[in-house]
Amino acid sequence: MTIDWTVPIETGELPVDGENFDIIVVGGGPGGSAAAAYAAMRGDRVLLIEKEVWPRDKTCGDAVGGKSLRHVKELGVKEMIEATPHFRVTGMMFSSPNGQNVTIALPKDDVERKEAGYALPRIQFDYMMFKRATELVLSSGGKVVQGTKVIDVLHDSVPISRITGVTIEGDSTTTHCAPLVIGAGGYRCPVAQTIVEDLNGEIMRDDDHYCGAYREYWTGVKDVGDEEGAIELHFVDDVIPGYWWIFPVQKGMVNVGIGMVISEQRKQKGMRKSLKKLQHHLINEHPLFKERFAEAKMVEGSGKGWQLPFGSPRKGKAIQPRLSAMAGAMCIGDAASLVDPFSGEGIGNALLSAKLAIGLFDSSKHKDGFPQEMAEQYMVELWGALGPELTNSYKIQKIVRRRRLMNLFVKKAAKRPALQDALTDALASKDAQKKLHSPLWLARNILL
Ligand SMILES: Cc1cc2nc3c(=O)[nH]c(=O)nc-3n(C[C@H](O)[C@H](O)[C@H](O)COP(=O)(O)OP(=O)(O)OC[C@H]3O[C@@H](n4cnc5c(N)ncnc54)[C@H](O)[C@@H]3O)c2cc1C
Repeated sequence: MTIDWTVPIETGELPVDGENFDIIVVGGGPGGSAAAAYAAMRGDRVLLIEKEVWPRDKTCGDAVGGKSLRHVKELGVKEMIEATPHFRVTGMMFSSPNGQNVTIALPKDDVERKEAGYALPRIQFDYMMFKRATELVLSSGGKVVQGTKVIDVLHDSVPISRITGVTIEGDSTTTHCAPLVIGAGGYRCPVAQTIVEDLNGEIMRDDDHYCGAYREYWTGVKDVGDEEGAIELHFVDDVIPGYWWIFPVQKGMVNVGIGMVISEQRKQKGMRKSLKKLQHHLINEHPLFKERFAEAKMVEGSGKGWQLPFGSPRKGKAIQPRLSAMAGAMCIGDAASLVDPFSGEGIGNALLSAKLAIGLFDSSKHKDGFPQEMAEQYMVELWGALGPELTNSYKIQKIVRRRRLMNLFVKKAAKRPALQDALTDALASKDAQKKLHSPLWLARNILL
């Protein structure tokens, strides 16, 4: 199998004005492509709408973890990835504020089964997800549009508030209805905006739970693996309370980026106010990194900023992490604010929420509109599936900002294989992660 992700994707005939579907999916990123693919695999008639034209870039760290790979395999995309250049992730390097580091291996079995994790540019990964979704949607009688933006989300208010369809604008402006609209338009998704802000008066962007991030691609960085190895997460002094990453994505090229929670970034002074300046300071001046970047070159035009809507629990809210569904609509992925607040991973949760949402919809039972009680069930099931790990990650996010604790922990971990094994377990199992913020476990491992 050979895949060329640089050529256009043929998406077929446009829908005519007033043409209706079983499901309308807004956004063709990993979440939207997965939702459309899962629905089409079951035989639903889907309209998949994407505002950009493929191939298109998405600002990201480009790590596709084990959770994502399970869905990617189910959707028939894993072989496509393996037929293109990619980096196999075998471990994670963490550095502490004082610059010490430790590399934690990912579980050997997962690495051997090629299920531990990959890293590859999103322009390539998203292309394959959208291409596969397009094939499946067209073969089950649906339509796919790109270069076409949702400009209005339609809703009834009588007898109940229900989302009913969308108006889209591409070469022409058309309106389409469906019993279910999936909001998969990322952190500024128009469906999420309608549910959260317009109809319920809540805020979309909570600065304590949104992260600003900046990414660039570089070639010629020293001491990184070519085809497999560790990805690097640095919590060095200059970066905390944010984190800096170096992720190899293919032979000779790395994704380098930095992220910080927006409310924390506001408190920063001088050069630290700008993530781009902070990143360039690390590359050009930090004693741990400047030598590694001495002969490296930034890929022109690759510097881009974006936001990550974290799934950390919001204080005092009955629905966590925030409202994401109502009669007629469910939001998934970034549109439902599901990014892991420690690692910054969001692709896996976008795919998981896509499968969950599609599993709750029944095109024959819900032909008059996806009911409110099912929307509520979605939010409960979503938090049931992801709440424990997102809450753990939020606690770990707070711990890694504590400089002395991180210094001691990384120092001990670097010396002790048994502690490294425990961390390997924690990278593989969400249950084992609970240990990482248990005061007793931390005390035992740091003090003994
Ligand atoms: C700097 C950075 C680093 C990250 N690193 C990682 C990482 O290493 N690993 C990881 O797993 N996650 C990472 N994430 C998070 C990850 O990028 C997201 O969680 C993931 O992209 C969510 O997928 P999605 O499909 O929900 O949304 P998106 O990928 O944002 O896709 C949304 C799609 O909707 C389209 N759209 C938007 N509005 C409209 C509209 N009005 N009409 C039609 N289409 C529309 C967009 O063009 C886009 O294609 C990172 C994020 C950032 C910003």
